Amino acid sequence: MRTEGLFIDGEWVRPAGAGEFASVDPASGEQIATLVDAGVAEVDAAVAAARAALPGWGRVPATERARILWRIADLIEAHGEEIAALETADQGQPLGVAKAVSVAGAVEHFRYFAGFTTKIDGAVRQVSFPDTLQFDQRVPVGVCALIAPWNFPLMIMTWKLAPALACGNTVVLKPAEQTSLTAAFLTRLCAEAGVPAGVVNLITGGPAAGKALVRHPGVDKVSFTGSTEVGKDIVAASAHDLKRITLELGGKTPTVIARDADIDAAVAGAVAGGLLNSGQVCAAFARLYVDSKRVDEFATKLGKAVDGLKLGPGNAADTQLGPLVTAEHLAKVDSYVRGGVTAGAQLVAGGARAEGDLAKGNFYRPTVFAGVSDDMAIVREEIFGPVLTVLDYDDEDQLLHRVNDSPYGLAASVWTDDVRTAHRLAAGIRAGAVFVNMPCIPDAAAPWGGFKSSGWGREMGPYAIDAYTEIKGVWMHYGQAGQ
Ligand code: NAD
Repeated sequence: MRTEGLFIDGEWVRPAGAGEFASVDPASGEQIATLVDAGVAEVDAAVAAARAALPGWGRVPATERARILWRIADLIEAHGEEIAALETADQGQPLGVAKAVSVAGAVEHFRYFAGFTTKIDGAVRQVSFPDTLQFDQRVPVGVCALIAPWNFPLMIMTWKLAPALACGNTVVLKPAEQTSLTAAFLTRLCAEAGVPAGVVNLITGGPAAGKALVRHPGVDKVSFTGSTEVGKDIVAASAHDLKRITLELGGKTPTVIARDADIDAAVAGAVAGGLLNSGQVCAAFARLYVDSKRVDEFATKLGKAVDGLKLGPGNAADTQLGPLVTAEHLAKVDSYVRGGVTAGAQLVAGGARAEGDLAKGNFYRPTVFAGVSDDMAIVREEIFGPVLTVLDYDDEDQLLHRVNDSPYGLAASVWTDDVRTAHRLAAGIRAGAVFVNMPCIPDAAAPWGGFKSSGWGREMGPYAIDAYTEIKGVWMHYGQAGQ
């Protein structure tokens, strides 16, 4: 059993009198770690450490910051097996996903932003005032609170941490209370790579710790990935001092399968894009709109493919789908499925928790509904679990209206062999990312973020540099006195 502390100003601490909470393996229900439930005093100490470290980190030459980021990437890679096993035990994702998506994604993010560190440039502007040099430069935003969800704990934290450090900010990490172990591991690696004391601090705890951090006057920026509901709370909490905010929130990703699509490829894409990490993915392909001439074929093939998936503990070699993160989350997913059945949707596959040996963990059978209508909760609301809904369409204009009739706009996918259909749909769908004939694969180099209630701002690519810098214009008048 692991015991983790808080990391404040370069020291691991377990403050006397602070509460504790457990982390549980979702595949077995067994406790695997004890963590500190940080209170206001600990949040204060972490923010103070980050603030004190800010000027020094800003003076570390960009070339040296780049080397430190690259070393973090190397260390994540060197400890990849151990980190992947920890992520699987804490979060439940199959070990193959933990290695190929979580660990590999974390490594690539640090390498990509290590490269950016030396390229955060400004420009000289031709202003009209005589004898004046005007230049603008990008400066760090300051102390950043980085708050992550439980679905990809390591990878999503690195989406924030790598660009924040590259731009010269100091940070307080707040992983989700269900899955804090890989953030603690990453914090250790940052120190080992040479990140100075106070630059990276770690606070563990639940919503109370998150709230204290978001409301702290010493925090300049909040980068949050999580539910739309909490995102709105963060906006409200930041209103009194207008903190900078980046929000990556919920989604209900539409997928369009056109009449000419390769149905087998689309089925494989729906399985990969809809059920990765047991559907606990913000961009999971959850609403599948299929041309009415192909919908029966698609639903039958999808049901068969889904029934054939192997559920099991993430550390078993043949597991394709792991458990849901907590028993509470499983109950929420199940209540959506029950609601779908009551509303008259037709169950093609799954529809219940797994039994037998898997009953002790939070295993839910991957579920496909057909015969659903646009107004059902299983179509409109984010379930964040292994539940796919198949709808049919005839008319493309109506289809676009239905696809866009959602509060969310994070991602979308399109399956067609006709390049004109692909362009028309990609142009018509209101979402931050549209994937044509492929599953959803975020990349450090490409923008990631949502339209509408799916968020504010963008992570990744050069857009992340905008998110972690302020632009300052400097004006230097060099005319002689009196001129
Ligand atoms: P959540 O909103 O419940 O919690 C996310 C984090 O916020 C946790 O660390 C939690 O402790 C903290 N928190 C909770 N209440 C808070 C408050 N009032 N103030 C500050 N912090 C608070 O989300 P979750 O259940 O962990 O994650 C699932 C959600 O995350 C889904 O909606 C999913 O779509 C979204 N998500 C989005 C993306 C994206 O890139 N857009 C990626 C992954 C997950």
